[in-house]
Amino acid sequence: MMSELTIMAGPCAVENREQIRSTAEFLSGLGVKILRGGAFKPRTNPDDFQGLGEEGLKLLRAAADEFGMQVVTEVMDPREIELVSQYADILQVGSRNMHNGPFLKELGRQSKPILLKRGMSATIYEFLQAARYIEKEGNKNIWLCERGVRTFMDETRFTLNLGSIAVLKADSPYPLIVDPSHAAGKSAYVPAMAKGALAAGADGLLIEVHPKPTEALCDKEQALSFEEFSTLMKSL
Ligand code: PEP
Ligand code: MN
Repeated sequence: MMSELTIMAGPCAVENREQIRSTAEFLSGLGVKILRGGAFKPRTNPDDFQGLGEEGLKLLRAAADEFGMQVVTEVMDPREIELVSQYADILQVGSRNMHNGPFLKELGRQSKPILLKRGMSATIYEFLQAARYIEKEGNKNIWLCERGVRTFMDETRFTLNLGSIAVLKADSPYPLIVDPSHAAGKSAYVPAMAKGALAAGADGLLIEVHPKPTEALCDKEQALSFEEFSTLMKSL
């Protein structure tokens, strides 16, 4: 693994102690330094698993601490910024919240780094203006995350455009993380898209990994198994 590459990896959602602990143990063994996992999940269907909330944050923090990792996790609600900040090193803004100006302003008043995901229908201009909402309030510690947008291509969950990676690198001072997992929607496509993203200039990757992908409570089709993830890491 190239040392300058930033890799954020972990399950879509924190599900239980063993799931997140074994993932942290595995990832740290490969040199991954940032553990992801959602405790507050933005699900399309309100009846689907919504995350463990604060209990999930605690499990995530404990797993990361045990293996010397940092934590990135999504905050969905301005009322939960303080709570999530007690456990996270990096605050993730999900695709569905990229357009929420008052929320972005509040995050701009925080001192923790922000991982800002691109809205699934956002233009590059809108994405970069969202970063400005954060920056204008004082927080310049921003990482952009390209996670694909909606197009007429429906064989993948979203469309990851190599051109957008080139443009974001050229037009923004912020580091760019690419998330091939949500863009692909299927684990089989993740490795090719991850490699393409790095070739196009991304500074890092965010990848969903699960100890038992078929049993994942969230985004199971796109999660890499440990074996698939370690093969990908070697090929990078
Ligand atoms: C996630 O990273 O878990 C997530 C929900 O991604 P997005 O906001 O890009 O859909
Ligand atoms: Mn997910």
